[in-house]
Amino acid sequence: PVFQNARFHISAHHLRDLPPASGIEVAFAGRSNAGKSSALNTLANHNRLAFVSKQPGRTQLINFFTLGDDKHLVDLPGYGYAKVPEAMRNHWQNVLSRYLSERRSLAGLVLVMDSRHPLTPLDKQMLDWFCPTGKPVHVLLTKSDKLSRGESTITLNKVRKELKDTWGDEISVQLFSSLKKQGVDEAEKVLGEWFLT
Ligand code: GDP
Repeated sequence: PVFQNARFHISAHHLRDLPPASGIEVAFAGRSNAGKSSALNTLANHNRLAFVSKQPGRTQLINFFTLGDDKHLVDLPGYGYAKVPEAMRNHWQNVLSRYLSERRSLAGLVLVMDSRHPLTPLDKQMLDWFCPTGKPVHVLLTKSDKLSRGESTITLNKVRKELKDTWGDEISVQLFSSLKKQGVDEAEKVLGEWFLT
């Protein structure tokens, strides 16, 4: 597994606090409650790795984990949190947009969406910031256990088409369930390839 040796490294409040952009990093983003922490924990197979407090003040950090060999996993703050003051939201949108568009060592973005509410305006905003870099995006449609088989297929196809039509070919998408451990191999394969490049 890709994340077997993940260790927490640093939480940054500003771009200037980030470690040097050496090696390879993969970032996870998603709006609050989409299931990002659960997905990270499932992939990490390491219960405490992606521990993120639900307190608004504490989720406003870029969390760096080191996987060894100059490989890093980055947990981006849950965005769109309704209770966050506008000034703080603006600050984080500024930091996130610059991180996604400028970070040299960033190899790919995993965007976590609740399969029942995919492609929120904020998901689209993240794609608008990141996709011009030409780097790959992998979308996890989480909580797929909450959909019937038929609904899952319809959602997958619909989201895949919208992503392709609007943001191009560098985006892959899959169903994922942390609860049922569905889609873990598929996600690990994508991440494994990104970490090799
Ligand atoms: P985050 O805010 O994006 O980090 O979301 P969390 O990982 O904390 O999950 C938010 C809520 O969704 C929690 O109540 C989780 O138990 C639930 N959840 C997360 N993943 C799944 C899943 O795959 N299936 C189901 N049924 N619930 C999930």
